[in-house]
Amino acid sequence: MATGQRDYYEVLGVSRSADAQELKKAYRKLAMEYHPDRNPSEDAAEKFKEINRAYEVLTDDQKRPLYDRFGHAGVDGAAAGGPGGFEGSHSFDGFGDIFDAFFGGGQRGGRRRRGPARGSDLRYNLKLTFEEAVFGVEKEIEFQRLEGCEACEGRGAEPGTEAVTCPECNGAGEIRRAQQSIFGQFVNVTACGRCHGEGRVITNPCTACRGTGRTRQTRHIAVKVPAGVDDGAQIRIAGEGEAGPRGGEAGHLYVVLSVAAHEHFERVEDHIVLEFPVNVAQAALGAEVTIPTLDGDMQLEVPPGTQSGEDFVIRGKGVPHLRGTGRGDMVVRVTVVVPETLTDDQRELLEKLASTMGTPTLPRRNKGFFERIRDAMAG
Ligand SMILES: [Zn+2]
Ligand SMILES: [Zn+2]
Repeated sequence: MATGQRDYYEVLGVSRSADAQELKKAYRKLAMEYHPDRNPSEDAAEKFKEINRAYEVLTDDQKRPLYDRFGHAGVDGAAAGGPGGFEGSHSFDGFGDIFDAFFGGGQRGGRRRRGPARGSDLRYNLKLTFEEAVFGVEKEIEFQRLEGCEACEGRGAEPGTEAVTCPECNGAGEIRRAQQSIFGQFVNVTACGRCHGEGRVITNPCTACRGTGRTRQTRHIAVKVPAGVDDGAQIRIAGEGEAGPRGGEAGHLYVVLSVAAHEHFERVEDHIVLEFPVNVAQAALGAEVTIPTLDGDMQLEVPPGTQSGEDFVIRGKGVPHLRGTGRGDMVVRVTVVVPETLTDDQRELLEKLASTMGTPTLPRRNKGFFERIRDAMAG
């Protein structure tokens, strides 16, 4: 008797009073999640089987009351306890229909053989400079992945030979055994151990790939990074992951972008912020300064009386919008730098200046602050 079997209600995550509608809903969700064709994790097939078993029992008007009263013993039958458990043959056909409806009917037909599994997805971390992310770039990346074996064309059989119908299951991919129990006859269905459910076995494995149908190869791929991407963004390249075993569909390649910081610019969404220092005289008298932008140097007019922390917005000099057209803005935040050391001349000039300036600088700063608030409110 199988031990450690999970409660069927728990497996489906429903209450003991769940009706057919709730069961179907729960089953549908879980089956989508754990279907081995979609879920590459190792225990997906087992989980999927468990979900099916739970659903089969709980939607069967005869088995559910038995299960409710006697637990697993009530429905597994005294003798059925094989590793694959059992499925009643009638209901099993019902599942086939449901699978077809859920998964596009890729395996329609009498046999419910498991097709070759899909290959793994791959993740590649691509480092970009600040400018590459802003303007886009095409990068060639190199990585290793399992690819379909060229010698046997991914089939796993030595060239010139063919996989043969599995003698164990006669190609069905599953073994059915009728079993008697006190509750009647059940059909015990297990995946064929010889062919692992594929229905065919390779008697002459390909020497290049040892019968797996895949070999590890170094691959170069050009990745087009669109303008405007930001740190952490992902680019999905369909079908460029690993090949599936023996002709299975390839997984996807996910390129994850990591964008380096810029030495001058800070990016805020699609805007660029530049802190630009000017000296006291430039701030007071006004000046034309040369600032770096994403598109190269340009001239900026700093008007007379510019306060430290004042922002100047240059429209359209930010990052191109990833979706749609146009660009964000550039914000130049002027910082007034006070000299830490002075020459004798400078000291003399500043002292002269100081004697003409009765007012402390504090009120002027406050005015700048309120001005900025007012501007923000008006904007
Ligand atoms: Zn091969
Ligand atoms: Zn077989």
